[in-house]
Amino acid sequence: MPAAVTRFAPSPTGLIHLGSAYSALFAERAARQAGGRFLLRIEDIDETRCRPEFTDAIFADLAWLGLRWEEPVRRQAQHFADYRAALQRLGAMDLIYPCFCTRTEIAAEIAAAAGAPHGDGGPLYPGTCRRLTPYERKARLERGDNHALRLDVAKAAAIAGPLRWRDRESGEQDARPALLGDVVVARKDTPASYHLAVTHDDHLQGVTLVTRGEDLFVATHIHRLLQALLGYATPDYHHHRLLLGTDGRRFAKRDRALTLHALRAAGRTPAEVRALAGFAD
Ligand code: GLU
Repeated sequence: MPAAVTRFAPSPTGLIHLGSAYSALFAERAARQAGGRFLLRIEDIDETRCRPEFTDAIFADLAWLGLRWEEPVRRQAQHFADYRAALQRLGAMDLIYPCFCTRTEIAAEIAAAAGAPHGDGGPLYPGTCRRLTPYERKARLERGDNHALRLDVAKAAAIAGPLRWRDRESGEQDARPALLGDVVVARKDTPASYHLAVTHDDHLQGVTLVTRGEDLFVATHIHRLLQALLGYATPDYHHHRLLLGTDGRRFAKRDRALTLHALRAAGRTPAEVRALAGFAD
């Protein structure tokens, strides 16, 4: 059996706080305990929110914390050609469609349709552009209208058939990709999306155990479908609890005092910060 490969895959949209440190330490420990490998991956496809100085800070803060990872570090923004190729494969299966909707239009459509289905993070995309005629679609593309690409999840799931995946905490799962609706696989401003890039890279990098916060549990249903469509292996998953602040809320960019940078500046040692994150070993 090949040794476990885990990864920590932050998006450089801010400084690492205690909640992300927990996630990084969790992934590293899982690899170490299995005698495996630990990777760091920079998920910087969102060029409007990611900043190079935050990538540098991630390297510095994690190294200070005592983590070591394999080089070279994969940076997603350098690999758009990979994601384009994956999109083309989905396109060749006729499973993606252009979506011209703005956020406002989507909200209006949802408001008009009583009882719109809700996913984990709010109302699901109502499928407006899936129902465009080939003629309308072509005309809008030729006009150069700005568009995202969405996965036709019902059609894709029908082709893939029943799928399962395993979470080390919650056990065997029947994949329910429809939970998130027709997800975006390429954003209007970026020829990729989180779902596409993360699934592609976990496959490419031979990740065998994906550890991440339980807030991403639902996303795994769609990742499992993408794996089936693209012929990728399915890793094991371990969605861990989120480390919460003393107020019971998730750490966020607003918690400046609990960034590793601030804790270090306040004179905390790496061992103390690891202990604060619950890793006293
Ligand atoms: N890049 C994602 C984030 O920062 C996490 C990706 C993952 O672990 O699947 O939230």
